[in-house]
Amino acid sequence: MKEKRRTAQTIIAADCAPSKAYVGIGSNMGNSRSHTAEAIQRIIKDKRVKLLAVSSLYLTSPVSRVTQNDFINCAISIVWDGLPHELLALLQGIENRMGRIRTVRHGPRTIDLDILLFGDLILSDPALKVPHQELHRRKFAVIPCLEIDPGLIHPVYGKPLRSFLAMISEKQKITKLERVGIDALASESHPASQWDLWE
Ligand code: AMP
Repeated sequence: MKEKRRTAQTIIAADCAPSKAYVGIGSNMGNSRSHTAEAIQRIIKDKRVKLLAVSSLYLTSPVSRVTQNDFINCAISIVWDGLPHELLALLQGIENRMGRIRTVRHGPRTIDLDILLFGDLILSDPALKVPHQELHRRKFAVIPCLEIDPGLIHPVYGKPLRSFLAMISEKQKITKLERVGIDALASESHPASQWDLWE
């Protein structure tokens, strides 16, 4: 698929706040549901954030070649009153405070927070690429975003996000879990039976 040219004008759009952003959340270490809930709670505590929607949780197979547990993934949409790099700083601060250990690249993680979309902004610098460069290649990112807004367009390609699903490998397994409120997320433990869904 051909990539649309990035223009300086689009990048200057980064200055236009507030913006609607999609944040991807993933965890495959410890109590992933509770880590997910804690991350959402920490994100929405920030005064620059207005929460719009939370997707269902999804059980997903790891894409990395590093052997590790399946992930719990979800996405949230927020209105962010700030610059994209400020949102990245917030997310990285939360990752660090929640004890994300970066020992193995692409390895297991307590919590992984990514900016998937930031309005229709296209931005590429060493610290931040928006849309997230893997967004359209990962079911665990595309499907939760589409659950929140089925009409999303990928700003780089100018095509519906849903059109990328057919191009993603069948090897990427994803199972929709129940939709739960943020408070419930924090108190529930993960039912072990969910992990057997693909076996
Ligand atoms: P990861 O370990 O996969 O979470 O990658 C973290 C690195 O990706 C950090 O150094 C970020 O600066 C960089 N990065 C680039 N674009 C993004 C994005 N859209 N969201 C989160 N991190 C990003």
